[in-house]
Amino acid sequence: MMWRQTSPGHDRAGPEPESGRDGPATGPGFEPVLSDCEVHFLYWFIQGSIMNPETRSRLRRAWGLCERHALAHLAVEFAFRNGWVHGCALLYEDLMGRARQAFERRVPVGLWLALGLRQTAPCLMCELGFGPHSPTTAPVEVLARGRQTVGLQAFARSTEPCWRPAVCVRCAGRAVTAQSPRCRPHLLRDLLTRQPVDLGTQRELVVSIHGAVGRYSRSFRLEFQGTDTVEDRAGLVAAIGWCSGWSAWLRLVMGSKV
Ligand SMILES: [Zn+2]
Ligand SMILES: [Zn+2]
Repeated sequence: MMWRQTSPGHDRAGPEPESGRDGPATGPGFEPVLSDCEVHFLYWFIQGSIMNPETRSRLRRAWGLCERHALAHLAVEFAFRNGWVHGCALLYEDLMGRARQAFERRVPVGLWLALGLRQTAPCLMCELGFGPHSPTTAPVEVLARGRQTVGLQAFARSTEPCWRPAVCVRCAGRAVTAQSPRCRPHLLRDLLTRQPVDLGTQRELVVSIHGAVGRYSRSFRLEFQGTDTVEDRAGLVAAIGWCSGWSAWLRLVMGSKV
């Protein structure tokens, strides 16, 4: 399966992003369609512009990218690096560390926690105007390669038993209890609307994702190569789902089973 190319006048996108701000399933309505411009931007993004201090700071404030662009980032890095997704792993180790810190403050309750988990900047790519219909003049070979998701889908399937338990019940549309796992946007919403949430369980989830994605990130270093487990690799999926929401990911995985 590949990300399908956008065709002119083919209006299948969801609503425009609400500036990538917090809320369930933020960002453009996700479909397996990456526009030329999105592929081209992410191609340069993974070449090094992600390391720019200003960009890193922005990614921290926005908890990565919106749901659509977070998945697109992983997919494009997967396609161009043959699964060597070190950039993504480093980014999400950092973001989950930040989430863990928010839970470990002295008063990790209710509105104080919400304050630490809120998004204070919009998705960088949404703000730049990149969406399902943005054109570009990038070479066709680059665009074709950037849309390959075969490797990513194999990765999704092989790690599924380990990331499934972390899926947000609200993103999945399942019955919710105080202990059910939530993604950050849904946890934030539940805290702000004073829904019953067991913060101990949510904290355990965050700590476990941070540990797994941290081990995966470390495994890209020369001295630790080959030390990652399926659980560690699934940690990257869980981190992306936790930070931005799971809907786009679930659609990608379910699409692969059709
Ligand atoms: Zn976005
Ligand atoms: Zn959710």
